[in-house]
Amino acid sequence: MLSVEEAQVVRVAEAIAGLIDGQTPDLIQLPSGYPDNEIRQFVNHANRFISEYGPIQPFLFALSRGELDYEAPRGQMALLHCAKNLQANLRHLTWKTQQVAKGDFSQRVDFMGEFSKSFNMMVEVLAANREELLRKNQELETVSQTDPLTGLLNRRGVGEYLRRETHRTKRSKRPFAVMIADIDHFKQVNDAYGHDAGDAVLVEVARILQGHARGGDLCARWGGEEFLTVLVETDLPQAVAVAERVRLNVASAGIFHNGASIPVTISAGVSIYHENEDEDVAACIKRGDVCMYRAKESGRNQTW
Ligand code: GH3
Ligand code: MG
Ligand code: MG
Repeated sequence: MLSVEEAQVVRVAEAIAGLIDGQTPDLIQLPSGYPDNEIRQFVNHANRFISEYGPIQPFLFALSRGELDYEAPRGQMALLHCAKNLQANLRHLTWKTQQVAKGDFSQRVDFMGEFSKSFNMMVEVLAANREELLRKNQELETVSQTDPLTGLLNRRGVGEYLRRETHRTKRSKRPFAVMIADIDHFKQVNDAYGHDAGDAVLVEVARILQGHARGGDLCARWGGEEFLTVLVETDLPQAVAVAERVRLNVASAGIFHNGASIPVTISAGVSIYHENEDEDVAACIKRGDVCMYRAKESGRNQTW
């Protein structure tokens, strides 16, 4: 037969065993009129432990399952503070990770020890990789739009420029001119002097074209031995004058390769893109092309 005191100790022991097993035991009620002694104090401490530690367990279980929105129990136990801290950190970390996922690589963490270091390192590597990728993409974009021989834009690179220029022309109400220049009998240059000499001629003609371009103008290699020049805010007489200067410059350039002077001429066609005629820029280029062919048919080395 247990004494009343021993019975309280046993009940406390049973309650603690229940807590250890993950249960939520009832608080221990002392018999009415029980004296205010050490056993009462012991039971009071035990009750406080039962009432505070009990709810911490399901809270911790929920955290361990990743249920970060689980409502934290109330209480003063240091263990509860730790658990709440952990919950807040994990929530904050989740938010930071979401920001990184959205592309904000400025996020850093400094509250989770070794984990923080790994997180920060991961974000730094991601940021560096993205930087590198953007740089490579930019490089590829440039390479894909550049003619490697002359360094001019190629046909692919012209599109964006023309879109911009047509918009600008519509706003400024000032036309731009298109000049198509094609080297005359270029096949004969290759045949007579070799492909390398042909390449040197292409480079030199490109250089002369660029030399006559103003800031904002565009020179592009439009095809094999054909160049497209866009002259901004230029009307037809001005454009024809530029084309004639280029043509005469090419004809008198004296292009030397391996000791040989190679006679080179171009035929040019000029057309105007008008802001008010709502035309397709391709139609304007086509007109320039047609003019260039007329120049060919009329004997070459001339501007139409
Ligand atoms: P036309 O006066 O009627 O324009 O005659 P053409 O000989 O200039 O024209 P054609 O279209 O018959 O020949 C163009 C030549 O340009 C053929 C091609 O081999 C050469 N070509 C194209 N690209 C290059 C290049 O990058 N380098 C060299 N060397 N030749 C090229
Ligand atoms: Mg040609
Ligand atoms: Mg051609």
